Amino acid sequence: MAGQKRVAMTDFPAIPPDAAICPDCLRELFDSGNRRYRYPFISCSYCGPRFTILKELPAERSRTVMSSFGLCPGCEREFWDASDRRFQAQALACPACGPQVWLEMAEFASSGVEPEHLAEGETAIKSARAVLAQGKIVAIKAMGGFHLICDAANPRAINELRKRKLRVEKPFELMFPDIEMVEKHFFLDETEKALLSSSARPVVLLRRRPESNIAPETAPGQQVLGIRLPSTPLGYLLMEKADAFPQALVVTSGNLAEEPVAISNEETRERLLSLADVYLMHDRDIHVRCDDTLVRVFDGQVYPLRRSRGEAPFVVKLPRAYPPVLACGGELKNTFCMAQGIQAYLSHHIGDMDNYETLRFHEQAVAHYETILGFKPDGIAHDMNENYLATRGAIERAQRENVPAIPVQHHHAHVAACMAEHCLDGSRPVIGVVFDGSGVGEDGVVWGGEFLIADYAGYQRALHLAYFPLVGGEASAKKPARTAMALLHALELDWDERLVPVTQFCPGGRTTLRTQLDKNINTPPTSSVGRLFDAVSALAGVRQQVNYDAQAAIEFEALVDPAENGTYVFNVEQAGIQWKTAITALVMDVLNGVPVPSISARFHNGLAQMVLDACRQLRRTTNIAEVVLTGGVWQNMTLLGKTVPLLRGDGFTVYLHRKVPPNDGGLALGQAAVAGWKLKGW
Ligand code: ZN
Ligand code: ZN
Ligand code: FE
Repeated sequence: MAGQKRVAMTDFPAIPPDAAICPDCLRELFDSGNRRYRYPFISCSYCGPRFTILKELPAERSRTVMSSFGLCPGCEREFWDASDRRFQAQALACPACGPQVWLEMAEFASSGVEPEHLAEGETAIKSARAVLAQGKIVAIKAMGGFHLICDAANPRAINELRKRKLRVEKPFELMFPDIEMVEKHFFLDETEKALLSSSARPVVLLRRRPESNIAPETAPGQQVLGIRLPSTPLGYLLMEKADAFPQALVVTSGNLAEEPVAISNEETRERLLSLADVYLMHDRDIHVRCDDTLVRVFDGQVYPLRRSRGEAPFVVKLPRAYPPVLACGGELKNTFCMAQGIQAYLSHHIGDMDNYETLRFHEQAVAHYETILGFKPDGIAHDMNENYLATRGAIERAQRENVPAIPVQHHHAHVAACMAEHCLDGSRPVIGVVFDGSGVGEDGVVWGGEFLIADYAGYQRALHLAYFPLVGGEASAKKPARTAMALLHALELDWDERLVPVTQFCPGGRTTLRTQLDKNINTPPTSSVGRLFDAVSALAGVRQQVNYDAQAAIEFEALVDPAENGTYVFNVEQAGIQWKTAITALVMDVLNGVPVPSISARFHNGLAQMVLDACRQLRRTTNIAEVVLTGGVWQNMTLLGKTVPLLRGDGFTVYLHRKVPPNDGGLALGQAAVAGWKLKGW
C-alpha cells in the first residue's frame, strides 16, 4: 500500500497469551462478600482470555470481543485505577455489566431464532451439573472453543460420547477439580503439579494408579492419560466438589472426529446437535479457535506434545535476524510459523489438514496473524510432499504473490526445529536422529528412520533404516498386520498361524498378498521407524488395525517390562541399518511364547542401542558429538528414557525438544529456520 512502508527485520509486537484464572480471582470467586462472588467471568489484568478474544493489536479492551460490553460504574472505576489489580484488564466484567451464562437444550434451531433458555446464571450451572451426574453429555463453551464433557466414572456415558463423536478408542482427557483429587488417581511429581496449575493450564500426560476407579473406557489399553484442572471460573463452578457430583469429567473438543472445534453459539447449535444433550452457553464470543495444550514431563522438564491455548502464539528466539518467512507446516498436527528478525512466532494447533474445514481454519488463522502482526512474507516454506493441502496452498500463494516457494525436506525440518529452539547458531552441523511416522524424502520414498548430518543450510543422509515394503502404500499405516506380513515375507519366514497377523487373512487373501509382494505391486519401500513399530506391535499380537495415529506403537509401549534387559540386534551398515536379525529374533520369541512385555522391552532396548551404535559410527567419521532426537516416534517416553542415558554416557551432547513438539506440530519452526537461511544465502 502506498505510503505504508513495511519495515523489514524488525521484531514482532507482543500478543498476550490466554491465562487461566489466577489465585486472587479464584479466592474472590468463592468469597461470598465479593461483588463477583460465583460470577463465571471474573478476571483481572493477570488472568482471563486474551489471545482468543483479540481482534487486532494493540491488545486493548476496545479491540477485543469485550468491546460489545459496556462497563458499569464499579468496573469503570477499577479499569482506570492504576493501583487496581483490574487496571485496564481486557476481559474486565461483573454480574451487572458483563457476559452471562445460560443452559439450552440441544435441538434444531432455525437460523436466527435464539432457542429458549432452560436456565440462566447460577441455576444454569447447577442444572448442567445435575445433567452430568445423570450420565448425560454437556457441551460447554470453554476458553478456546466448545468442549464436550461427561462423567469419567460412567462407562455408559463415555461409550455414548465415543459413539456420537465417532471416536473409537482414542484416549479421552480428564478434568479434575484440584491437585489433591488428581493425586488420588494418578502418579505425579512436583514438576507435573506445577504444570497442572500453571497459567497455561496444559493437559499433562500422567500414569494412572492401579487402584484408580476411573473407567477404563476413557483410554482403552493405556495407563497414561491426559489430565487437566479447570482453567476458567466457569470450569471451577461446574466442577465444584460435592458428594453427588463426579470426581472427574471426561473433556474432549466439541467437534465430530477430526474437524476443527466449534467456537460460536450458532455453529455449535448446528454442528454439535447430535453430539450433546444440552449446551452450557454464554454471550462472550471466542474470536480465535484454540485447542488445549498438551505436555509430558521427561527428566524433570517439560516435553511439549502440542503447544496451543495459554501458550500461543509461542515465540522462539532465532540465532540470526531473519527475513520475513512464512512456513505452512505439515499435514498432521498442523501449526504454521512466521519468522522475522530474531523471532519466530509459532501458531496455535490447527489440526490434521485432511479435510476442507481444517484447511479453511488454517487459512483464516494465517490471515489473522498477518493482520495483527502486520506480517507479509518474502518467502513461503513448505514440505516436499505435494499431496499435503498445506503444501498446495503454499505453492499457490507463492505464485499469486510472486515470492519464492521454498521446499524443505520433512526430516531436515524436524532437525532444524530442534536446533532452532535451542538457538544453535548453525556454525557446526549436528547428528539428527529422526524417527518418524512418515515424510517424503528427496528420492520420493517415505522416510522415517534417518540419521542426518544437518545444519540449517542443508543436510546429508548419512545412515537410514534399511527399506521394507509398505503394502498398499500410506494406507498401510492403518493396517499394521499388513506391514507385519511384509516383514515376514522379506525375511522368508513362514506365515505361521501362531502369529496373529497371519490369522487376519483368509487363504485367498494370503495368496493375493503373496503375489502382491512377489511382484512388487503397490508396495513402495519405506525406512519409517513408526511403521516398524506398527509391524512389531502386530507380530507381538498387540494390535492388527488402528483407529488413531500411532495406536499400535502406543499400546506396544504401554506393555513394556521395565526390568527386562534383553535386546534385539540391529546391524549398522552403510547400505542401510539392518533390521533382519532383530525382527527374526522377535518372531522367534513370539513363537516360543515369550511374554509380550519382555518382547516389547527387547525391541525398545535394541532400538536404543542401534541409535548409540549409529551415532558412534558417525562421530568416528565426522567428529560430531552433538545429537538431536526428533520426529514423532520420540513421543515414546520408554524409547527416549533408554536412549538418552546411553548417548550421554558415551559423551554425546543430546538435544531434546523442550519448546516445540518432536511431532509434526514443531515442523513449521524448522521449515522457517531452513527457508530463511536459504533466502539469505547464509
Ligand atoms: Zn485474576
Ligand atoms: Zn461491571
Ligand atoms: Fe514428521
